Amino acid sequence: MSDLLEKYRSMRDFGATPEPSGGKPKKSRLPIFVIQKHAATRLHYDFRLEVEGVLKSWAIPKGPSYDPTVKRLAMMTEDHPYDYASFEGVIPAGNYGGGNVIIWDNGTWELTEPDDPVEGIKSGKLAFRMYGKKMFGEWALVRIKGRPGSKGNEWLLLKHRDEFANPDVDVTEVAPRSIISDMTLEEFGAAIGTSKRTWQSNRPASTSPSSAGHAPTLASRLEAEKAKKSTRKRPSASPPTRSDRAPKKAASAPSRSSRAGSPPAVPPTRRRPPR
Ligand code: MN
Repeated sequence: MSDLLEKYRSMRDFGATPEPSGGKPKKSRLPIFVIQKHAATRLHYDFRLEVEGVLKSWAIPKGPSYDPTVKRLAMMTEDHPYDYASFEGVIPAGNYGGGNVIIWDNGTWELTEPDDPVEGIKSGKLAFRMYGKKMFGEWALVRIKGRPGSKGNEWLLLKHRDEFANPDVDVTEVAPRSIISDMTLEEFGAAIGTSKRTWQSNRPASTSPSSAGHAPTLASRLEAEKAKKSTRKRPSASPPTRSDRAPKKAASAPSRSSRAGSPPAVPPTRRRPPR
């Protein structure tokens, strides 16, 4: 590994020179994530992580929680194409996953454990950091032993304890809107009407906070929450927006094929996630 730098190092005394002795290149680009709020037969949040050029996907009925004591059931579903990350629109009734979809959050993510995401999915444990507009800090997806007869696709999404953990703010409540259209799923449905035609946003699902437009960030929402509680609670620093971690290029425009497919509705008999 260090062979390429052998000569460089042999020529220097790093106790005497401030020059670096090594260092790893930064990845040019972190993989993306998207969370889509989907009013299918049952409302859920589609949690998708870019792995090996596709979007590994989980359907989370209740969405993410910043409370580290709360574990949210996440049903692993089929891989989705990369371009699905920019899909906000209507899956026509009668089609698989029929219902309205908004882009609830997006950004980049970074695996912290294990080293390889494919290995992590295989072994049923992914720990990672998220750089979104609503999703920040350390999270984990952990596969659980499902109820007897389950398909082995039951995972839990949980928040690790860090500076972003917050048991008092329900992020799905305080920040319900699309980061693309700034509409709630209900407003989106009303804007689309009951027409059966498919409507699709032609705005790219940018992962750059600066192009998130007027969509409020969790940081600003938390700021507002804290301002309200300031008489009771001592304010602390607001979370960084991580604009430095945003990728240079926005996700490409959705392709036609990206409209197909969506995870199935969670069965009505689903178990409650253990706490
Ligand atoms: Mn879905």
